[in-house]
Amino acid sequence: MTAKIPTLDLTRNYERIREEIGQAINAVLDSQQFIMGPDVPAFEKECSAYLDGISAIACASGTDALVLALMALDIKEGDEVITTPYSFFATASCITRLGATPVFVDVDPETFNIDPEKALSAVTPRTKAFLPVHIFGQLAPLETVMDEFKARGIAVVEDAAQAFGAWRKTGDEIKRAGAWGDVGCFSFFPTKNLGCYGDGGMITAWDEKTAASMRKLRVHGADATYFHDEVGLNSRLDSIQAAVLRVKLRHLEEWNEERRRAAGRYYALFAEKGLIGTITPPAELPGNYHIYHQYVIKAPRRDELQAFLEERGITSRVYYPLSLHMQKCFSFLGYKEGDFPVSEQLSASTLALPVFPEITMEEQQRVVGGIAEFYQK
Ligand SMILES: *Cc1c(COP(=O)(O)O)cnc(C)c1O
Repeated sequence: MTAKIPTLDLTRNYERIREEIGQAINAVLDSQQFIMGPDVPAFEKECSAYLDGISAIACASGTDALVLALMALDIKEGDEVITTPYSFFATASCITRLGATPVFVDVDPETFNIDPEKALSAVTPRTKAFLPVHIFGQLAPLETVMDEFKARGIAVVEDAAQAFGAWRKTGDEIKRAGAWGDVGCFSFFPTKNLGCYGDGGMITAWDEKTAASMRKLRVHGADATYFHDEVGLNSRLDSIQAAVLRVKLRHLEEWNEERRRAAGRYYALFAEKGLIGTITPPAELPGNYHIYHQYVIKAPRRDELQAFLEERGITSRVYYPLSLHMQKCFSFLGYKEGDFPVSEQLSASTLALPVFPEITMEEQQRVVGGIAEFYQK
């Protein structure tokens, strides 16, 4: 019996850094400073340096990062936020949670990212923010619309939960995920490409006033303990998680490179088996540094393929089986099937294959071999 191939193997990653992690967690235990201990501001500083100097504020999850970002921008009932229907639920729920209205626009069939031109044409006098997602680890090509949004006073809030370390070169400039728009949101959920050992998140902002507001909102809206200017959240990053993340951030570039190497190997293996055209490998736009948080193909007879692979011990996942505009909890928005055909088509045809820094060539050969066998039937 051959070993099962998981979509992600966190154990192999942990084995590489076990000692460093042990030391970092033990140091927090010795200090007994579990809330806002010194690792939290140190991690924020390191993230800020990594992200071109943007202010970084750690918080309790990626979902909270999105909520805090929109709260700091004063988004409320009556406001509209333009976003993608092809994403994780939190991208849209943060908007309705504040009583505002998500306005969905369809995605690009090649990159699965929001179509920036469609986003621009969805602007109304009520639009307060534009919330693109860098889906699966590749930046959306926003350069054509950034200035337009700015000129209309619409904030650009990046959902960079899947894209820590990804960038896009436009002209001579490198734009980093989460440091391109006005505000960036990150998740450190354990399965993200920079993940901690529990829940965690981070918000970034260029504007110091916005950053200060976020800092306050994450601690119940208080600048000084017990004096509350507004009602915020309890959304701090635990010191233990910050200590873990500081260790992992030091290795992130190497791990992102390894993910890219795995993506390159998949492409070569698909080409070797003559599968390109039958399946569609992920498209990386020129100038993009895609970090392959997920390696997502388009595959005919997707559900059958997934079951076939599963029988052979090859795990795969469907991101996302139901477009956000079709979710029951958003039925009050009045969208219907057919409103966003690309997103709906992707929900029916994409499959995420195993990808993680430590995946081996043999495992990838088995994955591609299984796919080849399925389509030869
Ligand atoms: C994971 C994720 C989030 C939410 O992050 P949590 O830390 O799980 O709350 C938001 N948006 C996207 C695109 C994500 O992938």
